[in-house]
Amino acid sequence: MLERLRSIVQEVSAAKDLQSALDIIVNRVRDALDTHVCSIYLLDQDFHCHVLMASEGLNQEAVGRVSLELGEGLVGLVAKHAEPVNLRDAPRHRNFCLLEETGEEDFHAFLGVPIIHHRSVLGVLVVQHGDLRRFDEGEEAFLVTLSAQLAGVIAHAEATGAIEGVSPSGHRIFDTAFAGVSGCAGVAIGTSVVVYPHADLSRVPERMIEDVEAEIDFFNSCLNAVRGEMREFNERLAGQLAEEERQLFDAYVRILDDDALGNEVVARIRMGHWAQGALAWVAGEHLRAFERMEDEYLRERAVDIKDLCARVLAHLQQEKPDKPEYPEDTILVGEELTASMLAEVPKDKLRGLISVKGSGNSHVAILARTMGTPTVMGAVDLPFHQLDGKQLIVDGYKGEVVTNPSAHLLEQFRATIREEEELNRDLAGLRDLPCETADRHRVSLQVNTGLMSDVLRSLDQGAEGIGLFRTEVPFLLAERFPGEQEQTEIYREQLDTCAPKPVTMRTLDIGGDKALSYFPIEEANPFLGWRGIRVTLDHPEIFTAQVRAMMRAGIGLENLQIMLPMVSNLREVEAAVGLIRKSYHELLQEGEELPFPPIGVMIELPAAVYQTRALARMVDFVSIGSNDLTQYLLAVDRNNPRVANLFSSFHPAVLSALQFVVDQAHAESKPVSICGEMAGNPGAAVLLVAMGFDILSMNASALPRVKSVIRSMTLKACRDLLRKVIQMDDEQMIRNAVDMALYEAGVDRLLRSQRVN
Ligand code: PEP
Ligand code: MG
Repeated sequence: MLERLRSIVQEVSAAKDLQSALDIIVNRVRDALDTHVCSIYLLDQDFHCHVLMASEGLNQEAVGRVSLELGEGLVGLVAKHAEPVNLRDAPRHRNFCLLEETGEEDFHAFLGVPIIHHRSVLGVLVVQHGDLRRFDEGEEAFLVTLSAQLAGVIAHAEATGAIEGVSPSGHRIFDTAFAGVSGCAGVAIGTSVVVYPHADLSRVPERMIEDVEAEIDFFNSCLNAVRGEMREFNERLAGQLAEEERQLFDAYVRILDDDALGNEVVARIRMGHWAQGALAWVAGEHLRAFERMEDEYLRERAVDIKDLCARVLAHLQQEKPDKPEYPEDTILVGEELTASMLAEVPKDKLRGLISVKGSGNSHVAILARTMGTPTVMGAVDLPFHQLDGKQLIVDGYKGEVVTNPSAHLLEQFRATIREEEELNRDLAGLRDLPCETADRHRVSLQVNTGLMSDVLRSLDQGAEGIGLFRTEVPFLLAERFPGEQEQTEIYREQLDTCAPKPVTMRTLDIGGDKALSYFPIEEANPFLGWRGIRVTLDHPEIFTAQVRAMMRAGIGLENLQIMLPMVSNLREVEAAVGLIRKSYHELLQEGEELPFPPIGVMIELPAAVYQTRALARMVDFVSIGSNDLTQYLLAVDRNNPRVANLFSSFHPAVLSALQFVVDQAHAESKPVSICGEMAGNPGAAVLLVAMGFDILSMNASALPRVKSVIRSMTLKACRDLLRKVIQMDDEQMIRNAVDMALYEAGVDRLLRSQRVN
């Protein structure tokens, strides 16, 4: 049974479109269960009905034509309760509704199972039999398992149709929304540019070309280059491999010949596709054919084809690297966007970002917030391969991508963009006003930065300093570890631009989801592994070069503070401070004149929360990294879109941990800041002020809104709200209470930006 399941799922996954996928399912399931009928009904949301989309055993003329209203018939019953219905004699059931065109009056036994994807019922898979009998438990279990496995494939195929503006039953549709999570609040309308990592056949975008002949010549030259390589391998390995093994290379050369694979690619280029896309398509067709083969030896040959085609692709990409043209209104789309992909887009052209993987707390989302670019993360169902060049709406408030937008929806979103611009203009007036509550309680608002451009933007928004400079950002954008002098220059620019305002530089925090291409860390559980200070203490040469660069950069400015990430025990702080002291004394010996900088520790782990007091005694300040602290307190991977809805800064456990840290640090008379994304949420900021935080450090785009909220409320009102919510045990109740308080303070215009986290 398992083998059968596996082979059906594999075959369906390889289908080229929704209809072929459905046809394969009904055909193979009818055989597998040896029944008379197998049919699939899919929900057509725009027409509120279940349409018979494929069938083996019912009249073919009915397929695509007949439908049942929601709740109608046995199909409606299965969909409504999202549960299987297994009947010995279906026509006797009160819900039975005879669809005459289908010819189903001859069938008695009925088993329908829902097709459920992400909690919603996409349709119903039905088997029917002429005998009066119940399908047995094994058959029911088979169908349920199959349906669960196929739901994702069907959802994907449906989505592919939807972005072309076609509903499952072939109607024209608009405004198809794909859910993700918010990465950066705001709305953008633009043209998508899909970016891919290189030399991966499954990640080649579709592009059309004009000059077909030139593209064919180009393809042929790359093909020749690979043929040459194969012959070279063959000669080089003569004497090392047996003749039969070396024949493989001859076989490779033959596959590449004009009348085989090469020819098919050329034919597709003639249809107007670019060489990379044509090659990927042809390779895909061959791979699917090989993978379907029963013979294991032949199945294995799929690997050879893949390897060969990847070689040709590498040549195509090397000769003509895929540097996309960025339109004026670029929406950058990728399976997993990286900082360097972002960096390649000219800033003035970037309107929005969509990453299929990752969540609102991934570092790429944090970068997006720093830049103020509306972003949707974790749009896992978005068929992004097909999106290149399409018009899209990025709704960074809701965490949603809308494809095929209608004129009406576009107008609505344009109005939102205008409102936003107006709000930002109003908030710009706050730039030089102090951040204090209506009853004059001062809080320092600072910003989180990573790049030089962030600093300039931040100062523009009226920041009082940099509460977190993520030094790993320049490391992520480099191709090797930057040397001490290079780092000194980068840090000097930040310190100098900000002086005399303080700049808190965090020592290198790599690991987790921040991987340096030139220093790969492969781990099963990267967030519980070699991260942050654990890496740098194991590599004192990296740590020392960095802190020396920081201190040298700060000479004469006196605004440097150094902060240690991911601390889980006192010894780490002792060791790190020891290394900083050593570097400091070396600099003095080298003749530099500088003060010893204030050192701070980040509280990001539950262990550190409970040791706040002891840690605070060892350093000059404490800063809470609420992104990681929330991740570790709630055991929710900050990067995983599946559990993104569980990641909440308003969770009662998070709030009480924060209050505990503030009290403990203040008991040692040490200032406390918070530099996680939570600080940039206007509602959360009100609670943080009440808790007693001295500094809130956030992304630059959030700063004006947070300032506006704080200036609109009294400290007393903030504290009253905190007293109320700290008694609550449910995060949704807490959010509601905070929303209500903002509403009462008359700042509900800012509520939209609260959705993040
Ligand atoms: C945090 O964890 O809250 C933090 C500020 O650090 P990062 O997001 O860079 O891990
Ligand atoms: Mg962190």
